[in-house]
Amino acid sequence: MATAESKPAEPEKTEGQAKQQENGEVDAAADATAQLGIEVGDSPFSLELSQDQKDIREWAHGFAEQVVRPAAHEWDEKEEFPWPIVQEAAKIGLYGFESVAQFWADPSGLTFPLVNEELFWGDAGIGMSIFGTTLAVAGIYGSGTPEQMVEWVPQCFGTADDVKVGAFCASEPDAGSDVSGYRTTAKYDEAKDEWTINGQKAWATNGGIANVHVVIASVDRELGSRGHAAFVIPPGTKGLEQGTKVKKHGIRASHTADVHLDDVKVPGSCLLGGKEKLDERLAKAREGRSAKGQAAMRTFELSRPTVGAQAVGIARAAYEYALDYAKEREAFGRKIIENQAIAFALADMKMEIDAARLLVHRAAWMGRAGKDFNNAEGSMSKLKAGEVAVWVTERAIQILGGNGYSREFPVERMHRDAKIWTIFEGTSEIQRLVISRAISGVHIQ
Ligand SMILES: Cc1cc2nc3c(=O)[nH]c(=O)nc-3n(C[C@H](O)[C@H](O)[C@H](O)COP(=O)(O)OP(=O)(O)OC[C@H]3O[C@@H](n4cnc5c(N)ncnc54)[C@H](O)[C@@H]3O)c2cc1C
Repeated sequence: MATAESKPAEPEKTEGQAKQQENGEVDAAADATAQLGIEVGDSPFSLELSQDQKDIREWAHGFAEQVVRPAAHEWDEKEEFPWPIVQEAAKIGLYGFESVAQFWADPSGLTFPLVNEELFWGDAGIGMSIFGTTLAVAGIYGSGTPEQMVEWVPQCFGTADDVKVGAFCASEPDAGSDVSGYRTTAKYDEAKDEWTINGQKAWATNGGIANVHVVIASVDRELGSRGHAAFVIPPGTKGLEQGTKVKKHGIRASHTADVHLDDVKVPGSCLLGGKEKLDERLAKAREGRSAKGQAAMRTFELSRPTVGAQAVGIARAAYEYALDYAKEREAFGRKIIENQAIAFALADMKMEIDAARLLVHRAAWMGRAGKDFNNAEGSMSKLKAGEVAVWVTERAIQILGGNGYSREFPVERMHRDAKIWTIFEGTSEIQRLVISRAISGVHIQ
């Protein structure tokens, strides 16, 4: 047991703790734990963020509040990629391979989700324009060799003076959820050590405007998703063209487009992971042995908690806006928050957001700590956060009444933006499929 001398300095009290102290609740709890021989604050488990994490979160929040939020309406209306904002993010070091590496380096796994939550709190369309590149980066990390990571990841971002973006191209016009249906093919010419890729990709974030495209292609159609491989398409490669740019419901600042691959030729070194590893994997799959590393699925697994954190950011933005509004707006001679119908809705919104964040942080920590996702905890975090974002932003519109439905107020945009979080990176139905298979061991259809 800790002695009086070894007792740590008393931490600063939060407003809630101070109120509990006034009510005598803390003293009673302290007495009870003291009787059990336990010091308050001794717990080896903590949800407290480190000072570094708090500092990075505050820094990202400052950028979101001062630069991203004020620009959100303009870029949503223009439906154009916000290059000047991405450049500003690069200038302060928020966008770039060094910063992303620093966020990933946090051994708790929480820093990258924390930064994402703040940025998407600022605005989801601009947030996706800034962090859409990380999908391509996750593709390279998921399948590439250390040499390939060093070569290609910096080229996804460019430099602060010459900003670039990256794109991850998996989905196709006829195959989104059903990754085994990809028709894009890659054929190898051993004599030239060269791959030729043909096909069409759909819905690619940054597709066609990216410096580096990471493309998933089939090298053996008979093997379904086990016959996939991931390729880097270097800048300026002939045969890769942007197709139609998609006009969207939400995240309209983010660029989404089809990508056409017409006899795209890349050297053997562009196959992520290398030929030897691919051959090994294909051989295993042909023999019916379990083959790890289905390129697209692994990329999604790596990024799901971070995607969930983005949805938490949107939900929090709408909740905070609605809370402030409810405290100001008057109807029937009183503030609307004085009605339980409004106050209880806000209480539920806050509770759901916090629950979603806890799932996100758990999954992010599990991923970084190398824990097995036995119950598909990564999918759980994305599923919950996406659905919470849609629900909370819809409730926020309701709380703002007619103003909520107007483009003059941001919750309308937040609701349009939130919807994609139940569709991309695996729809809600696909997440439920993954979770139900994981918990049951049954191949649910
Ligand atoms: C704005 C935006 C950005 C995107 N960015 C990218 C990107 O950068 N890279 C990329 O590769 N892709 C991207 N996508 C594509 C996205 O990942 C797909 O749209 C998504 O995976 C769903 O695929 P789909 O549209 O083909 O729908 P489908 O697979 O056709 O699904 C249609 C419906 O059927 C349901 N369904 C399908 N199969 C089942 C099943 N077995 N059980 C129950 N329900 C099922 C789905 O849940 C969905 O509700 C993006 C999409 C959008 C809209």
